[in-house]
Amino acid sequence: MAEEKNMEATGLGATGNFIHNYIQEDLKGELNKIHTRFPPEPNGYLHIGHAKSICLNFGLANLYGGKCNLRFDDTNPSKEDMEYVESIMEDVKWLGFDWEDRLYYASSYFQKYYEVAVDLIKRGKAFVCDLTAEEMREYRGTLNTPGKESPYRNRSVEENLDLFERMKAGEFPDGSRTLRAKIDMASPNINMRDPVIYRIAHATHHTTGDAWCIYPMYDFAHPLEDAIEGITHSICTMEFEDHRPLYDWVVREAGYTENPPRQIEFARLGMTNTVMSKRKLRALVENNLVDGWDDPRMPTICGLRRRGYTPESIRDFCERIGVSKANSMVDSTLLDYCIRDDLKAKAKVVMAVLDPLKVIIDNYAEDQVEMLTIENNPENPELGSREVPFSRELYIEREDFMEEPVKKFFRLAPGKEVRLKGAYFITCTDVVKDANGNVVEVHCTYDPETKSGSGFEGRKVKGTLHWVSAAQAVEATARLYDYMMLDNPDDPSGEMIMNPNSLEVKTAFIEPSIQHAKKGDRFQFMRNGYYIVDTKDTTEDHLVFNRIVPLKSSFKVSK
Ligand code: ATP
Ligand code: MG
Repeated sequence: MAEEKNMEATGLGATGNFIHNYIQEDLKGELNKIHTRFPPEPNGYLHIGHAKSICLNFGLANLYGGKCNLRFDDTNPSKEDMEYVESIMEDVKWLGFDWEDRLYYASSYFQKYYEVAVDLIKRGKAFVCDLTAEEMREYRGTLNTPGKESPYRNRSVEENLDLFERMKAGEFPDGSRTLRAKIDMASPNINMRDPVIYRIAHATHHTTGDAWCIYPMYDFAHPLEDAIEGITHSICTMEFEDHRPLYDWVVREAGYTENPPRQIEFARLGMTNTVMSKRKLRALVENNLVDGWDDPRMPTICGLRRRGYTPESIRDFCERIGVSKANSMVDSTLLDYCIRDDLKAKAKVVMAVLDPLKVIIDNYAEDQVEMLTIENNPENPELGSREVPFSRELYIEREDFMEEPVKKFFRLAPGKEVRLKGAYFITCTDVVKDANGNVVEVHCTYDPETKSGSGFEGRKVKGTLHWVSAAQAVEATARLYDYMMLDNPDDPSGEMIMNPNSLEVKTAFIEPSIQHAKKGDRFQFMRNGYYIVDTKDTTEDHLVFNRIVPLKSSFKVSK
């Protein structure tokens, strides 16, 4: 039990054990402190999958009294941008983690990678290869057949040094030559068959400009980045498992033999009814299927933030999903659960009507307005109470009235009595219809004896409805979001089909206490869901609300 509790506090969940085991084992040996890193490539916005990695890396460092670096893995000049660098820093901070003074850029080690490469050449462990990409594929072999050695493999050290120098000097076009590690073309692991470690790319880099026209490959640069920064545990996702022997080779050949970084793989997060692939997310933005990277339906951190998720709820989610080696799809309703759990005692509850039906209380004086005191959150008395006006003309939710009630309908119907939250009992006496037979007005009487809080105990009613006083209600926009995708596009068999009902825009009539709401404030709309005041579209005189989550999740995967 104590063990379990401890796990929960770490951000690792109950299945995170195997990483703990590795770390504890290492700490028993020569290692004194652990050092992890979160290494995003600044080529897109962070999403909830990255949050899992952030919580894991910073969480482990916090738990074991170690450190965690934020490192921009920016060795690829083509797709990277400062816009992403800034958004990533903002998102990591917002999630509640602190890299202190340890902000690094992989591009600042370009000279170091180059020196390691030259050293490998000098020791006969790397060579310049003139095979084209296609020829290299042919030479590489397959899982079942060994590869063939490149005809350039046995160039002399002098020739290799000269050619590599000239690659660096910009003498050769893109793709004409590469630098390859000389390992083993017969290795059962294809990653070890003389992998390319440098390529030519005449491209401007977002931090180093045109200083370089040769760039290191990920599998060469990443282990060096970790080793240079003294990383002890390099945690990455499963697809790098087969690259681990190469990771270890690079670290060792570069001479980092004392407490070398140890690569540990875990399964990446996939979620139902959304998409996590950066390429697919970018396509949604570029094809205007969503309102930018921070569209409240997006699984990006900025999207979740705008939608109204709290950092606490996302960290809680990352703890609950745990860490394992088996890829799996997490049900999106778990994230819904986490935000409800976080907000249930934090958010003030207000009354808002989204599909209004007018109720007229015939025996209530026409010009009377009575202020009723209603608690802000029944689960949390510390949130106090507020005044809500009651008058002769109210709005209730259209679905809370049925002219011919079905069985077990305990809400308003002709001749039936219900309680209005925080106010009085009312009984329906009559309905008014338009020319098409639609109910446009419901007439009721109220019983002054039944005032809420007066101690009335005369009779029970089954239904309690929320309501607003029509004259004082504040009109606002309510955006009701649902899961973005109908299918699970991150599944191998999944398809990219937008949920046609992922956004519904309504006019909400809200009790006047809402006038004081500020951008970013969160509320529960009673009996409906949790909402946030949108930070972008809200203006001085018009509130726009995003529904964070309904009170109950009902959506299931369906195509
Ligand atoms: P790319 O295909 O562009 O490399 P990426 O999703 O791997 O995309 P990175 O910026 O390289 O993006 O990721 C930074 C870190 O976040 C990496 O350590 C990566 O393993 C981790 N990460 C990315 N996606 C997920 C995910 N869905 N679940 C868990 N960790 C993830
Ligand atoms: Mg990556």
